[in-house]
Amino acid sequence: MKFNTKTIHGGQEHDPAYGSVMPPIYQTSTYAQTTPGGHKGYEYSRTHNPTRNALENAFASIENGNHGLAFGSGLAAIDAILKLLKAGDEVVSTNDLYGGTYRLFTKIYEDFGIKFHFIGMKNAERIEDYINVNTKLIWVETPTNPMMNIIDILTTAKIAKKHKVLLAVDNTFATPYLQRPLDLGADIVMHSATKYLGGHSDLVMGALIVKDKDLADRLCFIQNASGAICGPQDSFLALRGIKTLHIRMQRHCENGKAVAEYLENHPKIKNVYWPGLKDHPNHEIAKSQMNDFGGMVSFTTRRNNYKEAIKIVENLKIFTLAESLGGVESLAGHPASMTHASIPKEERERTGVVDSLIRLSVGIEDKDDLIADLKQAIG
Ligand SMILES: *Cc1c(COP(=O)(O)O)cnc(C)c1O
Repeated sequence: MKFNTKTIHGGQEHDPAYGSVMPPIYQTSTYAQTTPGGHKGYEYSRTHNPTRNALENAFASIENGNHGLAFGSGLAAIDAILKLLKAGDEVVSTNDLYGGTYRLFTKIYEDFGIKFHFIGMKNAERIEDYINVNTKLIWVETPTNPMMNIIDILTTAKIAKKHKVLLAVDNTFATPYLQRPLDLGADIVMHSATKYLGGHSDLVMGALIVKDKDLADRLCFIQNASGAICGPQDSFLALRGIKTLHIRMQRHCENGKAVAEYLENHPKIKNVYWPGLKDHPNHEIAKSQMNDFGGMVSFTTRRNNYKEAIKIVENLKIFTLAESLGGVESLAGHPASMTHASIPKEERERTGVVDSLIRLSVGIEDKDDLIADLKQAIG
């Protein structure tokens, strides 16, 4: 089955009870048993729920995995991965990552005795220098948030295999429409399904997808034992979202390109970060591991002035000033004061998150309207 068919049918079957084409929302916590243990595969909805299972099968299908797991948020999904580790273990992580992931690593898991090395991964070979006998996990986000750096998944996966270290890839920005990390050798794919997979800014959810059965069993144990699951209503919404992922992504990419090219030629704009631009430092790797370049675009102004950047995001009319990304509607954010406010200024500036950096989640509206909006806002 090809990707554009998988988004609609992957892992799905019509409901056995009445043949309903969409899985019903099984809004139940528990399931009747005829005798203790005599049930139809479902006992309690923290462990399993038919609507959530349908979604988990869809997750697995679109990422070319064998097992999918759904969580109450992207961070809950990352939290489950970290629970595979124990005190004394070490993690090599990209230094340009989602602020909430950084916060989870440093403010919670460092206290539990896990050591993190945050490094630039533009050159993936550097990762090997930070691996030792205690290293258990490599954490990669690509494209990175918000600098749109590209990390070479294939090379990283080879290093991970060589040292028997797990490789987890946060695939939130790319989605499986653009890149499939499991095919490139990653062990775990993670999503904030809140973003493109859900696609309509109407839910908060996380996903993990793996190929390996033992790893899936360990993660399912954690999912059930720690309990950070999502409910059946949200599972239904995410399933509905996934059905249009391929057509939404096609338009996100088309509009992202138009916006990046417009900004690149704007006299007041200094840097434009979009992996499809030829002068992007890892454009060639992006071309080799992605099918297109997505709808996330970041830029800085020539004056690099904090107040000027705030004015621009306030002036936007079609782009909504808001946290988050990946919905059908265009959003704009100012990382230094919003998503990345929890990262110390020195740390964030080292990775390029300067005061004037603006991040756009380019939606699927008409691109002429989006460009006209940027034009009037930047002035
Ligand atoms: C939003 C996001 C997360 C966190 O997901 P939540 O659903 O908000 O918990 C993690 N990684 C990336 C890249 C994100 O954009």
